Amino acid sequence: MAKRDYYEILGVGKSASAEEIKKAYRQVAMKYHPDRNPGDKQAEEKFKEAAEAYEVLSDQDKKSQYDRFGHASPGGGFRGQGMNMEDIFSQFGDIFGGGSPFESFFGGGGGGGRSARRKGSNLRIKMKLSLDEIANGVEKKIKVNRLIRAEGVTFKNCVSCGGSGQVRKVVNTMLGQMVSATTCANCGGSGQVLDHRPPGVDSSGLVSKEDLITIKVPAGVSDGMQLSMGGKGNEAPGGGVPGDLLILIEEQEDKFLKRDGSNVFYDLHISFIDAAMGTSVEVPAIGGRVRIKIDPGTQSGKILRLRGKGLKDINGYGTGDQLIHINVWTPKKLSSEEKAKLMTLKDSPNFQPQPDADEKGFFERMKEYFGG
Ligand SMILES: [Zn+2]
Repeated sequence: MAKRDYYEILGVGKSASAEEIKKAYRQVAMKYHPDRNPGDKQAEEKFKEAAEAYEVLSDQDKKSQYDRFGHASPGGGFRGQGMNMEDIFSQFGDIFGGGSPFESFFGGGGGGGRSARRKGSNLRIKMKLSLDEIANGVEKKIKVNRLIRAEGVTFKNCVSCGGSGQVRKVVNTMLGQMVSATTCANCGGSGQVLDHRPPGVDSSGLVSKEDLITIKVPAGVSDGMQLSMGGKGNEAPGGGVPGDLLILIEEQEDKFLKRDGSNVFYDLHISFIDAAMGTSVEVPAIGGRVRIKIDPGTQSGKILRLRGKGLKDINGYGTGDQLIHINVWTPKKLSSEEKAKLMTLKDSPNFQPQPDADEKGFFERMKEYFGG
């Protein structure tokens, strides 16, 4: 039987992000989960198929191999139909965090025998950045309220699970009996319970405390990007690993410069006289103003390129440019005196439009810009 395309199995496009792939797998896995489809062989096959697709598409190396070679990947292809249920369930620990819908079926932590040390919850903050801050990268000190272990709190091993955080139990599936580790209900999976609790501290042993955190934002971030600082989130009840601090980047719109990837645009308006005779003007730029020269005979619509005056690429692929779009201002109203002066030039030969081969039309300029 021909193998189905992994993207098709998960119902995502080839350009799907890691997050979208994960989300899609979560949905498919939920739908065909054996506990929801007892005795249904077809659902089981679909469940395994989805797990295999996710295993490949969630791994950068395997994914790029699959994108290039499909199922006929060199090195013997992928794991094929060889994924067993244990493998699949152990995958879940990575994709269904705390509060997963499978917790009731398979226990927290994935049930794959991995350590079930609990992780504290993540903290999320938004960070507004100006274009200059984005261009140069910035270090910001931010006050964050984190849950941390209260002073004077001590923990002891949980008696129900002996400190492992997991209770083993037998689960019946259509593949037979499987021993599955379940989160210990007594300690919530941490393996630890509160021993000494000072007054005013709740059963988690955690208190909210303001923390000053220094965040280094690299140059070239963009709106909607999320930075993550491991271990700067909330601490876990009963010890364990603290969660992460997730920083969502919001880009403040600049008054003058419009950003497009690593390039910035500026619309410059000059008078017809300056365009005809040439001049030099100051324009806003990243990090301050720069003076640029306008050649005599500059046409409206011309784009000047200031190389390297754009933004650094976040992945280190060079620096963008600043592009200055020249608009020649046509007077909207004229006094009779101004009209009279212009009329003397009306029929002057140099004032007749004479576009030559060098005059690039709008489409050529666009092509030039997008072509690099
Ligand atoms: Zn326990």
